[in-house]
Amino acid sequence: MASDLAKAAKDRGIKYFLISYTDLFGSQRAKLVPAAAIAGMQRSGAGFAGFATWLDMSPSDSDLFAKPDPESLIQLPWKPEVGWLAADLWMDGKEVDHAPRNLLKRLIGKAGDRGWEMKSGVECEFFLTTADGQAISDASDTQEKPCYDQQALMRRYDVITEICDAMLALGWGPYQNDHEDANGQFEMNWNFGPALRTADQHTFFKFMTKSIAEKHGLRATFMPKPFMNLTGSGCHAHVSLWKDDKALFEDDGGELGVSALGYSFIGGLIHNADAICAMTNPTVNSYKRINAPRTTSGATWAPNSVTYTGNNRTHMIRIPDPGRFEFRLPDGAANPYLLQAALLAAGLDGIDNKRDPGERLDINMYVDGHTVKDCKKLPLNLFDALKAFEASTVLKEQLGEEFVTAFSKLKTVEWNAYARHLTQWERDNTLDC
Ligand code: GLU
Ligand code: MG
Ligand code: MG
Repeated sequence: MASDLAKAAKDRGIKYFLISYTDLFGSQRAKLVPAAAIAGMQRSGAGFAGFATWLDMSPSDSDLFAKPDPESLIQLPWKPEVGWLAADLWMDGKEVDHAPRNLLKRLIGKAGDRGWEMKSGVECEFFLTTADGQAISDASDTQEKPCYDQQALMRRYDVITEICDAMLALGWGPYQNDHEDANGQFEMNWNFGPALRTADQHTFFKFMTKSIAEKHGLRATFMPKPFMNLTGSGCHAHVSLWKDDKALFEDDGGELGVSALGYSFIGGLIHNADAICAMTNPTVNSYKRINAPRTTSGATWAPNSVTYTGNNRTHMIRIPDPGRFEFRLPDGAANPYLLQAALLAAGLDGIDNKRDPGERLDINMYVDGHTVKDCKKLPLNLFDALKAFEASTVLKEQLGEEFVTAFSKLKTVEWNAYARHLTQWERDNTLDC
């Protein structure tokens, strides 16, 4: 913790600060500020033209100010003279209601008023591609079932360990790295923690992974489905709720060791899954991951139904151990703050309204999903997801009208641009109709 940033700069040899925020689309925006100017910025924030980024603002609006949170300070492991700072957004002397980090903090405060703290860990999957992003970077990575491929993992040893060493030095507690289920795909895991810290780390992880990959002449992408014939990149979240040091989802007597409170939280995610999907799976491409046909190896490992289960990876929610669950819906495009906010909003609604998650299904959804009568499916595309998002009174109540309006307005522009786009597929398949 560095409450006085000017002093932290002197003590730690920081020459520049990156005052950074993520806009509604998760793009990271920043100003690079010399240490000599940081005291003023810490007081009033760095100025931005909000309309120039993905926020619901107008070119006639006054300056947007990004006020850095000193607790978020991270020295770039690959360039320690730069200190990264996550910022909250202000305009006209007020916090911007629809700014993702502000929004998450508000919701964490709501849970905190009741003595609760949500903790989560995210499992970031990503591809290492050629610098132009057109192909996986390792031409020898061609196995049909490439998951945990030792040889392909070790061919990327230099990149993966540079990122892992950085996380070790930062004290994040990384504990494993693997080659994932697609050629060219990797996953790196570090310790779970309070939702805001995880969201800041998740944001920084994406920045760091892209930066270190670039250093090695490669490109890292978290795009949910960058290659049609390969498994997509998920961003599963493992979730638990705590009061002081007590894990509230833990109950030895509960089904699979999960408490009634835990099942209500899960019920909230089941009830609100289609509404939060636009937040956890926010791009046009996201829906090509969750609605993908099974690959030749038999699975995409991504859910397409609103169901929960025990230790079984074919459902939206998996309960692998007592006291926590894995939410398998989110993907690599999710804004880290909105991902945590979606979890908390749906979970709190579940608790407040004692939402019943329904029957647990222990079947292989990829093979036997069709046998489940009236099985609720996830949205087929961003348009359907946005409709469910806009219609949700729960989200308006939990996250505020301003956010719901802003997010759906900007995302609808994206959907419309996509819908107007003429694809090669159409020409190939319907030219002679
Ligand atoms: N890549 C899969 C997904 O898109 C997840 C694989 C796994 O279970 O780790 O969700
Ligand atoms: Mg994985
Ligand atoms: Mg997982």
